[in-house]
Amino acid sequence: MARMPDLEKFSAEHGIGICTIADLIEYRLRTECFVHPVATTVLPTEVAGEFKTIVYENDVDDLLHIALVRGEINSHKPVLVRVHSECLTGDVFGSMRCDCGEQLHAAMKMIEQEGAGILLYIRQEGRGIGLLNKMKAYELQDQGHDTVEANEILGFQPDLRNYGIGAQILVHLGVRKMRLMTNNPKKIVGLEGYGLSMVEQVPIEMTPNEYNKGYLSCKKLKMGHLLKLNAKR
Ligand SMILES: [Zn+2]
Repeated sequence: MARMPDLEKFSAEHGIGICTIADLIEYRLRTECFVHPVATTVLPTEVAGEFKTIVYENDVDDLLHIALVRGEINSHKPVLVRVHSECLTGDVFGSMRCDCGEQLHAAMKMIEQEGAGILLYIRQEGRGIGLLNKMKAYELQDQGHDTVEANEILGFQPDLRNYGIGAQILVHLGVRKMRLMTNNPKKIVGLEGYGLSMVEQVPIEMTPNEYNKGYLSCKKLKMGHLLKLNAKR
């Protein structure tokens, strides 16, 4: 197989451009549709009332993503959107090692107050490394490492999440302009393009507790999250 130095020579000699596999993946995600709604129903929730609920399959992997939709989605108006990555321990058990469960419920309540919006629940556990590796990372954190170091010791990037499929689902639901609820600038970059633009970043900041304050300050310092972290404890 020709490697980059060979390709560069070949490209210059014949006047032919070079693109990478990553470029191809990105191009196909932008120009083709890989998502399919497979079930639509209504979920009444204790947290924030009723949501139209749509399950999406995609052609890229076996993950089923879920959209909770409130009100009418108008392509001409900015839509309040939260893209939430699955966190079993935080979302289901209310773990205080992170702020996921609180953020999930806060986002649902904000959408209820707004009267319209979408919570897109992406099934990429533990920033994309899966449940087992997330729990192993917790083990390492118990030994004194922070969340970024723990992922690196396990051989992962700090954040493996990919938002291309999520962006396609939002477009499929009729979203073009978003008021995106996030503290994470990387998520904004990951979702823009694909026919989506962000008109406003809506902060979704939880009060730190004694178990997650280290995790949250690591998100701020090492992962560029836009957190103030000065809330009273
Ligand atoms: Zn979490």
